[in-house]
Amino acid sequence: MKQILIIAMIAAVLHGCGGNSKPITLGVEDFATVAGQNDVRLVDVRTAEEYAEGHLFGAENIDVKDSLFGEHIKAIGGKVAVYCRGGRRSLKAAELLTAQGCTVYNLDGGIQAWRKAGRKTTKVETDVFVTESGKLVKIHALLHASICIEHDGRVIYIDPVAQLRERTVDYSLLPKADMLLVTHEHFDHFDTATLRKLYTPDVEVAMNRRCAEMFSLGLPLDNGDSHEFRCGSVNAVPAYNITAEHLQFHPQGRDNGYVLTIDGLRIYIAGDTEDIPEMANLEGIDIAFLPCNQPFTMTPQQLVNAARMVKPQVLFPYHYGETDVSSIADSLPGIDVRIRHYE
Ligand code: ZN
Ligand code: ZN
Repeated sequence: MKQILIIAMIAAVLHGCGGNSKPITLGVEDFATVAGQNDVRLVDVRTAEEYAEGHLFGAENIDVKDSLFGEHIKAIGGKVAVYCRGGRRSLKAAELLTAQGCTVYNLDGGIQAWRKAGRKTTKVETDVFVTESGKLVKIHALLHASICIEHDGRVIYIDPVAQLRERTVDYSLLPKADMLLVTHEHFDHFDTATLRKLYTPDVEVAMNRRCAEMFSLGLPLDNGDSHEFRCGSVNAVPAYNITAEHLQFHPQGRDNGYVLTIDGLRIYIAGDTEDIPEMANLEGIDIAFLPCNQPFTMTPQQLVNAARMVKPQVLFPYHYGETDVSSIADSLPGIDVRIRHYE
């Protein structure tokens, strides 16, 4: 008995640190359970085109047939769940990840089996980041200015909105909220019906003062305020227009941007703003969301100016609507610019 226990303990230690020597193939039900765990990175290894057509919620896309696949996965450790269309490409990816010490779970039959089992897919795109202490932060691009951030079992919604024109997000299919953050009162940021659906008494809520008053709930934050929440620390920062004819859209002092710090990872969500001088005071930003549309926020050139002030490692242009943001990356060498489709 004692011997069995010791063997089990050794197996558990190997499982956690060194990884399995072989990929673990799982059926749909077991794969779904594993892929939903906080410490598991879910990777769709198909092409960007296949990923765009629909994928598992929470999956990031790293194409195993991309010549840089080996480079892209170098920084990945710990537990990884992989899938492709039918299971063949993901097995190859699984072997490469296993070889670098990861514990890898492979979906038997790929997304075809997943769909056959009646499980849903999504078009919401996900990026995964790793904090100083090795925890995963998953960022989901929901809609226009609506973002969801998951880390360590906690789920933060920023400006959750359910519908803009023909585009919709079904929040009932998404993880339950632990925190709601709202930047300002415009309909593309402040959707009281959705906030009410996501709210429970356990949910932490913070908004700019006007929205907190209108919603009669949540901690009002003014520009410059900071607060430590269970979900992370939040600094409210200015967000306003500076172009003479646009001042009325977002008057100075009313609305917020937020710097969210999660286990040392600093994420700047700019809200509706132009390239204001206060951006130069932001320090150590790892990830920035900067808006790009006229006449309400920035032109692509202003966004470039803003990014040069903020100096993030990763930049997500967001809130861009029909604006062409495809050339922004050319003006920002040294910044990893990622264009996500906010379906
Ligand atoms: Zn606005
Ligand atoms: Zn807006």
